[in-house]
Amino acid sequence: MEKIVSLCKSKGFIFQSGELYGGLNGCWDYGPLGAELKRNLKEYWWRKNVQERDDIVGMDGSILTHQAVLTASGHVGGFSDPMVDCKVCKKRYRADQLEETPLCEKKAQLPKGEDKTCELTEPKEFNLMFQTKMGASADDDDPNAIAYLRPETAQTIFVQYKNVLDSSRQKIPFGIAQIGKAFRNEINPRNYTFRSREFEQMEIEYFCHPDDGMRLTDEWLENRLQFYSEIGIPREKLHILDVPADDRAHYSKKTYDIEYEFPFGIQELEGVAYRTDYDLTKHRDHSGRPLEYFNPETKERFIPHVVEPSAGCDRTLLAVLCEAYDEEDLTKEGGKTDIRKVMRFKPCIAPIKVAVLPLLKNKPELVAKAKEVKALLQPHMNVYYDEAAAIGRRYRRQDEVGTPLRVAITELLPWLLARIV
Ligand code: ATP
Repeated sequence: MEKIVSLCKSKGFIFQSGELYGGLNGCWDYGPLGAELKRNLKEYWWRKNVQERDDIVGMDGSILTHQAVLTASGHVGGFSDPMVDCKVCKKRYRADQLEETPLCEKKAQLPKGEDKTCELTEPKEFNLMFQTKMGASADDDDPNAIAYLRPETAQTIFVQYKNVLDSSRQKIPFGIAQIGKAFRNEINPRNYTFRSREFEQMEIEYFCHPDDGMRLTDEWLENRLQFYSEIGIPREKLHILDVPADDRAHYSKKTYDIEYEFPFGIQELEGVAYRTDYDLTKHRDHSGRPLEYFNPETKERFIPHVVEPSAGCDRTLLAVLCEAYDEEDLTKEGGKTDIRKVMRFKPCIAPIKVAVLPLLKNKPELVAKAKEVKALLQPHMNVYYDEAAAIGRRYRRQDEVGTPLRVAITELLPWLLARIV
């Protein structure tokens, strides 16, 4: 993991947010290559799940969320994790993630045989939502001024379900997809970008007839596994957890966690959850507005059930980075150690698709041709032009950032082309 983190910084994939000032815990900035990679990932997801399907439409909801929305969904009262503090070193932990009592930083110097573990308080619930106040005149205790940064993109979909249905002329079953930021005040952000306080989700709420929920949950699981293999995360590195009833959200009839073998352990990438009619029923009851669906053919009226494939964009990106990282040992017998870092991205998400490299920069005709090739390719893909240093070094630089294609412009090329044409 350390090697990946270091490459991500040196090559401009990911930086710690606010690094100049010591860093903002749980927040990350994507540098030039990271921004391209993330964009490509989101675009690929959008293309596969929205543009190439007739039964899914997209939306882009606001991040600031009406408190009534999150009260109805149960987040205001219950979106919390159990938190414990060490009474000695004051470190804070998520109680449900502790496998054993951690070692206390303040007790490290104690003599052998003494208890060096933390002295933990009783767990107390800590709400993970970021609250804010809206409007210039908002005074401290005006309850109407309270808004939240959304903790998931899903709720903005549920509250717009009827508007989308009425305006898009979809029929059930159909889905609404969204990619966007979500915020959780995680007690213990960790494992690089894996658990952050600000992150992006790629979610689909798929509305269906109650009879179809279980079947569609299984179908979505297969669909999502296929997606991961297309972006370079092989099936054998993914684990499917059929979440036992006791661990599922109380409204979920079935949940699969898709987990990936990260270097720091097997951890969740995405949840595929059958959320039943829980959310729409709650919003109907709290808003007093009808959210039933009427099927004109069968004359049936019902609250649609929902299957939700919910993926973390940053977690997927981290899995892609882990999977792409490779080292080639090119040490010659008796020679100096020569380990080359290579990123192997699938072309569909690679940050740079092609590098255009004139063999020599002091040959004006090669440079001119290389620039011509670059100009031809640029409207279609992200192109990197590089004429500095020996060609071998330039190839190596592209290996390190995972560029799948290179065009080397050599003197032979015009000669060859003349003959082929
Ligand atoms: P976890 O158990 O890891 O906290 P969760 O089950 O609460 O995750 P969901 O609410 O199902 O997560 O959110 C859907 C997806 O959003 C997750 O599978 C994950 O990819 C992503 N996600 C959730 N929390 C975070 C976070 N703090 N940082 C990055 N991604 C996150």
